Amino acid sequence: MTTELKQTFCSIITIGDELLIGQTIDTNSAWIAQQLNPIGIPVKRRIAVGDNKQEILDALERERNDSDIIIITGGLGPTSDDITKPVLCEYFNSGLIENAAVLKHIMSYFDKRNRPMLQSNLMQAMVPEVCEVLFNEEGTAPGMLFKEKGQVIISLPGVPNEMQYIISTHVLSYLQANFKTPNFIHRTLVTSGEGESFIAERLKDFEATLPPEIKLAYLPKINIVKLRLTATDIEEGILETHFHRLKEILHNITIIDADLELEFVLGQLLVRNQKTISVAESCTGGSIASRITSIKGSSAYFKGGIVPYSIESKQNVLEVSKDTIDRFGVVSEETVIEMAQKCREKFKSDFALSVSGYLEKKDHDNSVWIGLNSSSTKLTKKIIAPYDREKNTILVANAALNLLRLFILKQLSASS
Ligand code: AMP
Ligand code: MG
Repeated sequence: MTTELKQTFCSIITIGDELLIGQTIDTNSAWIAQQLNPIGIPVKRRIAVGDNKQEILDALERERNDSDIIIITGGLGPTSDDITKPVLCEYFNSGLIENAAVLKHIMSYFDKRNRPMLQSNLMQAMVPEVCEVLFNEEGTAPGMLFKEKGQVIISLPGVPNEMQYIISTHVLSYLQANFKTPNFIHRTLVTSGEGESFIAERLKDFEATLPPEIKLAYLPKINIVKLRLTATDIEEGILETHFHRLKEILHNITIIDADLELEFVLGQLLVRNQKTISVAESCTGGSIASRITSIKGSSAYFKGGIVPYSIESKQNVLEVSKDTIDRFGVVSEETVIEMAQKCREKFKSDFALSVSGYLEKKDHDNSVWIGLNSSSTKLTKKIIAPYDREKNTILVANAALNLLRLFILKQLSASS
């Protein structure tokens, strides 16, 4: 089946009462949208409905008016609250039949895990007669693909890794083979140092000269702004020319010209220059270390971290002098300078980052000091943390990682 539609759209329906009360956050539809976009299938709508027959049927009918592909997740578990399968049987007027391959898989799935199997588990091998089974190696509920009137309706389990397995191994290739999709190309520039409205001011003339096939998107994330150029059905070289201009305009605030995280960029810099780092984090509670170690291969440059959250641990574990803390305060330039220095000495790293601050405004201002120490430098930066704790932690971690990145770059340019 190759549709003649110029633009194929997809709707995603996520099913589960837990989504409506906010107990489970719907990450499935975001993930699916991220997979569909690069293959040229935009998502028309993302809808969440409860485990309710009429709500499911209504959502399906509504979405079929506007989309060629409907992807449903959830409601395929073995318990009685999961009703997607019987609802789809009724919708497509289909009975259930036992699928021998799925049955074999379920039996070996329980066997391998040495777990007892119930009748309700075996029932997962019963699939609607009219569907194509999408095999689920990661779990027991198979995916189901229905075709009707040139449209495709795909029902998948709600468990994220199972859903992701079926999409990656079966669904994407099926959709690419069966739907005519435009060729989307993206190029992303990651920046830090200016807010999106300031960047937009600087890009006014650039935006005005972009051809209609190229769209510019601003993706602000705390103190990082990503700029994405998306082109539809044009030569890669044309997009490259415009992306090159974008890079030239924003060169002074650019972190990297690809959709990569700050910690990855810093990691690459450290590896390339054979330098190591350690961290002493008070208010960020280990978040910077966690960001650094989220990168594969970080053991090559990360020596370790310490979270001296209390005044006593700053003195007793990190060995910051009592005098410094008494004279200047626990949140002060002098304290973070000493924290970074002690951290670097203890971990024997080339660089050390330190942070101490208030992530919430109480009887003090919400300021955070960041320190950076190397054999030749004591650098500090004060930032005001204006958001909630979670966002402020990201803000401070970004600022600290970026401080070190910029410092290494400056050192490199001075020595070259
Ligand atoms: P179900 O297929 O409805 O039995 O879903 C099983 C589990 O998957 C639920 O208990 C949730 O924890 C998870 N889940 C369901 N829907 C979603 C979703 N949209 N996003 C993330 N997790 C989900
Ligand atoms: Mg459910």
